Amino acid sequence: MTSSDSGASSAADLPDYAPIPQSALGPALNDQGYYVGRVERNLYWVTDGVYQSAFLTTPDGVVLFDAPPSIGGNLRRAVDEIAAANGVSNRVTHLVYSHHHADHGGAASLFGGDVVRVGHEETRRLLLRDDDPARPVPEVTFADSYTLEVGGERAELAWHGPNHSPDNIYIHFPGHDTLMFIDVVNAGWVPIYNLNLSEDVIGYMQAPAIALSYPWTHFICGHLGRLATREDVSVHQQYIADIEASAREALASVDPTPSYMHYGQNAWAGVKAHLDTVTERAAAPIIAKYTGVLAAADIEIFTTTTTFAIMQSLRLDSGPSGPVHP
Ligand SMILES: [Zn+2]
Repeated sequence: MTSSDSGASSAADLPDYAPIPQSALGPALNDQGYYVGRVERNLYWVTDGVYQSAFLTTPDGVVLFDAPPSIGGNLRRAVDEIAAANGVSNRVTHLVYSHHHADHGGAASLFGGDVVRVGHEETRRLLLRDDDPARPVPEVTFADSYTLEVGGERAELAWHGPNHSPDNIYIHFPGHDTLMFIDVVNAGWVPIYNLNLSEDVIGYMQAPAIALSYPWTHFICGHLGRLATREDVSVHQQYIADIEASAREALASVDPTPSYMHYGQNAWAGVKAHLDTVTERAAAPIIAKYTGVLAAADIEIFTTTTTFAIMQSLRLDSGPSGPVHP
């Protein structure tokens, strides 16, 4: 079959969505497709409108935090631009991995040579496993916390358990009133599928409270076009809390019997019918409440898959998954 025969292969077949709230959008990109801005003092952030990374300029060189391949060579341009404007070194001496995922670290190899790479010990283990030449493993690793000091500047790296990934760390800049914590909260937007493609549901749900326990004003969340605020984290927490409450209500109120009766011996068909009913019932009020509040809330698959993941975690992690047979 040709591509024109398949689903939404032409733009005319694609669905329409609610307008993006203006508050969810960031500054305009330059001609090369990036924006670099000061977070505070000598801490800068870079975005291509979808991904974010950050860097510190110091008298001893530049410390880079993540290297998303979508920003790629524009990271070098952003560092050069800022270093030239401020008359400081543009030499990247350190690169910190927030976590091992390729979409946030896949341009790490652009900064080769004598760069010191820093990351959680699990990041090193996972990168050794994944064996991707684009993401050289960190030589400097830590288990719980690590203070990175370069040129009189300080970043406090800490691991507080698995969430989005097993190795995702909190990067606190105490001298810059900033926290960098990637792939949990999207500033002004809903998480994409399955709680932003997260591996540990409970860890993901608890992580924003850990982020808020740090003192900070500016939050580098890793995605979309602007920095986040404490209010953004609170709205995200409310969205997740609303899903949890709605999932609990739907689990308690949807009678599974008709689904299982209908499919008889096909037990898995019964499971699907029951859980789909619970998921749709739980997700519908959330989609309605957050459309126009969080961008992309009306892309229903994002909220339904996140609702499904939370609903399953309520059964499997929190329990009980069902009544105990007498
Ligand atoms: Zn990730």
